[in-house]
Amino acid sequence: MTSLAAKILVIEDELPIRRFLRPAIEAAGWKLMEADTGERGLVEASQALPDVLILDLGLPDMDGIDVVRRIREWSRMPILILSARGQEDDKINALDAGADDYVQKPFGVGELVARIRVALRHVSQVAHPGVEAATIAGDITIDLQRRIVTRAGRNVHLTPLEYKLLATLARHSGFVMTHRQLLREVWGPGHAEDSTYLRMFMRQLRQKLESDPAQPKHLVTEIGVGYRLVT
Ligand code: CA
Repeated sequence: MTSLAAKILVIEDELPIRRFLRPAIEAAGWKLMEADTGERGLVEASQALPDVLILDLGLPDMDGIDVVRRIREWSRMPILILSARGQEDDKINALDAGADDYVQKPFGVGELVARIRVALRHVSQVAHPGVEAATIAGDITIDLQRRIVTRAGRNVHLTPLEYKLLATLARHSGFVMTHRQLLREVWGPGHAEDSTYLRMFMRQLRQKLESDPAQPKHLVTEIGVGYRLVT
């Protein structure tokens, strides 16, 4: 617990959306800072050092993806993208460039607040490593320090690649990971397009970890984007 309110910076040119966000963010006990252009947002981010950045992809002065790249040159702060219908490619490019998650417009405030909570949990894990070395998703426990995976208290045997895929999702738990990111991290840069591998290994993981592999609750597909470990 911290006595300082978490700082959330929103870079969004649409005033109605910033107005819509403010009461929800303040009700959650966080401090909202606003910028209406990419350039002002970059300045604000470097001066105020927010805990979480919410970034609209359609900005008047620059491409949201460039904002992601500029931030990633110096900071790992969680970045949540606001994307509109028709921006599917931009959204995936922004995630590949280092954004952590996205919310599709029009979105409900509850959905955004839940995403911010996930982001803040990652911030506190980075600040206090080891406190939450185990990721828990329902009856699945993934202990990254001891490399042990259990389901309902029983050890689950995973192959090295299955473990690597699950551990990669667990390190980003709650956040979406794109196909490309998972392939790159698990199989290496030469395999970024081999999505057949990924589908096969996800199927195997679901067989071992989900009570109904056809209706996964934890290893969730984000259609057209990638996968998410829901905790
Ligand atoms: Ca916009």
